[in-house]
Amino acid sequence: MTAMDTILVINAGSSSVKFQVYSIEGEGKLCRQIKGQMDGIGSRPRLRASGAGGDPLADRAYPIEAIPDVPAAMQVAGEWLRDEVRIHPLAVGHRVVHGGPEFERPVLIDHGVVARLERFVPLAPLHQPHNLAPIRSILANFPALPQVACFDTAFHRSHGPLADHYAIPHQLHAEGVRRYGFHGLSYEYISKTLPQIAPDIAKRRMIVAHLGSGASMCAMKGGQSVESTMGFTALDGLPMGTRPGQLDPGVVLYLIAEKGMSAAKVQDFLYRDCGLKGLSGVSNDMRELEASADPRAKLAIDYFVYRIGLSAGMLAAALQGLDAFVFTAGIGENSASIRARVAEQLGWLGVALDAAENARHSRQISRPNSLIPVYVVPTDEELMIAQHTLALLMNGKSQNARSERVS
Ligand code: AMP
Repeated sequence: MTAMDTILVINAGSSSVKFQVYSIEGEGKLCRQIKGQMDGIGSRPRLRASGAGGDPLADRAYPIEAIPDVPAAMQVAGEWLRDEVRIHPLAVGHRVVHGGPEFERPVLIDHGVVARLERFVPLAPLHQPHNLAPIRSILANFPALPQVACFDTAFHRSHGPLADHYAIPHQLHAEGVRRYGFHGLSYEYISKTLPQIAPDIAKRRMIVAHLGSGASMCAMKGGQSVESTMGFTALDGLPMGTRPGQLDPGVVLYLIAEKGMSAAKVQDFLYRDCGLKGLSGVSNDMRELEASADPRAKLAIDYFVYRIGLSAGMLAAALQGLDAFVFTAGIGENSASIRARVAEQLGWLGVALDAAENARHSRQISRPNSLIPVYVVPTDEELMIAQHTLALLMNGKSQNARSERVS
């Protein structure tokens, strides 16, 4: 392969399509060359992209009717990449939120795979259709271009039956009402990266806290997921920017019976109006909450930290002990004060933070005498997708080569 061979990574949501281009260097090393997104789809479409060093490559606004939906966004971004930046990727990797019960690892996409992924739309109605839209349009327009689907659920398919079930009739489990867990690409990246940072403990019992605008925690043993705070959907577990986290289902019944809310209204409410935003009445953004003097902003932060502590206890019980704790994602990587407060909550487990290392955002932020070492590891879900895509591409090629030799 030449130095200019590239992999395109696509993460498509309801109102934005994010993309990254990686060059394939020697020995399969991947280097990020372009990072961009088309956002404001259906409202104020805007294409922005920057190069490897953060240098701006594009910043263009479009009329709303030019980019009404994800396929249109994909087309415009694709034309920009092809015609102006001259990127012709060898393969495209996609983030797909739901792999259902069957997909335990990334998969090369064909029409059959798309049809199977289509079946999981009811399990993730807000995300899955948008994830599949660019896959379908590339399949239609560039049928020979290899595409790979990487799932947020796949890393958690190692869960045993106790972590996979709800206490509801079995038929619903068979239909797919299971505790899947999400943020799997982030956890997989941490699982793959930690052996380089802390080889002695990377395979032991650890809790990884992915604290971003979506937030969850994962219990890992031997580098594999054994339990997660998220379940059937990405609503459960920790409070998030706009999602409540763990909530008595009776609250949902109350909203329907007493408030007359429809299923669509409840869905909108749970995904958009709750969490840090709902509790604070100030913002869904942790930076704004930290800067606010409003007592409800303080309550929202206190609640966030408290629920992380509670969940750590639950996950430590699932692991029957704890050997390490890892912070990642926007809040976990950047907020020294949230990390300090979470560490305080974990004091009873033997966590002792080093305030200076924490303030410096060092890799290891616990004191040498801390019973449980604590790490900060920046996550990189897109790189994980690019690596999977390249691996499947190479694998497919070597299989072809093998069959050519055989025939
Ligand atoms: P993510 O979804 O991983 O991009 O994380 C987004 C969240 O990280 C938002 O709530 C941001 O407010 C938060 N965040 C990013 N940088 C900081 C920071 N320096 N301090 C506190 N929170 C931050």
